Amino acid sequence: MTAIRIDGEHLAAELRAEVEADTRALEAAGVVPGLATLLVGDDYASAAYERRVRRLSEELGCRYVCEHLPGGVEEAEVLAIVGKLNADPRVSGILVLRPLPSHVDEGHVYRRLDPLKDIEAVHPENAGLLALGQPRFVPSTPASVFWMLDRYVADTGRDPKTFYNGLDLVLVGRSNNVGKPALWLGLARNATVISAHKFTAQAGRLKAHTRAADILVVAAGLPRFVTGDMVKPGAIVIDVGINPEKDAETGRVRMVGDVDIDSVEEVAEAVSPVPGGVGPITDVFLLRNAVHAARLQARLHED
Ligand code: NAD
Repeated sequence: MTAIRIDGEHLAAELRAEVEADTRALEAAGVVPGLATLLVGDDYASAAYERRVRRLSEELGCRYVCEHLPGGVEEAEVLAIVGKLNADPRVSGILVLRPLPSHVDEGHVYRRLDPLKDIEAVHPENAGLLALGQPRFVPSTPASVFWMLDRYVADTGRDPKTFYNGLDLVLVGRSNNVGKPALWLGLARNATVISAHKFTAQAGRLKAHTRAADILVVAAGLPRFVTGDMVKPGAIVIDVGINPEKDAETGRVRMVGDVDIDSVEEVAEAVSPVPGGVGPITDVFLLRNAVHAARLQARLHED
């Protein structure tokens, strides 16, 4: 069996056209969406992400501002900048880029966000709404995973509204920004959801779970970690991992996923590649959330 490779670039282009149309419609109604990013320090991956969303914002006609603070900044200063962005009517959505320096408490920063501008649903109010199945915002990475899955399922002639009912969905990784929110999205689709993590692996139980998965979503940050022998024949495998790897011959850095695609595509029904899988959709989803936030805020002002 050679698995279908799910084309994330193509799906991202489709989503982008939707977001562009939504942005134009809002602009026609006098509302310009605005995205703000907060970058503290000089993390390589975060800075690259910041550049991508800046470019995308400009291309889609969204206002954009980046607050870039030095790594040594006091937590109080970071909180003050969040307060400034909260109060700025031109900013509809705020993304706090991770990692924050260790002396800045992530929880303090997240709790300072205006929940109506918290487009990654990291504020407890939005995280709680998501857990209750009543999301105000769906964080962009898990949203992209399920957007990709739903589209793949529909494109292969099945109904995404019923497809997941009772299927075993295994999530490898339980971070607050990917694994945990994905858990709620899987439950909302009536899947039987299992969250596997570092301790599952340490207990020697990981393979037993991944081999049982009808749908396997991997977000562990470990290059080529999931191999074909860990996958159930006919499973759908979504690779969230983005890991820099230096090419031994050229010395150039390239990105590889958490899934060993060569062995996995021998057993799976479908697999998303890295690069060209979930990543490009995530960027567009962030903008989609900023547009959604602008719409919510405009409605509030109408009331
Ligand atoms: P994280 O470091 O916050 O969490 C990693 C998770 O993996 C933890 O829950 C940990 O328990 C689990 N884990 C670690 N070792 C394990 C093992 N041996 N077996 C099973 N589980 C194990 O990472 P994160 O922020 O969730 O990101 C995970 C990966 O996804 C990274 O490669 C990151 O770059 C990537 N990522 C991609 C996107 C995207 O848009 N495609 C967005 C965010 C993160």
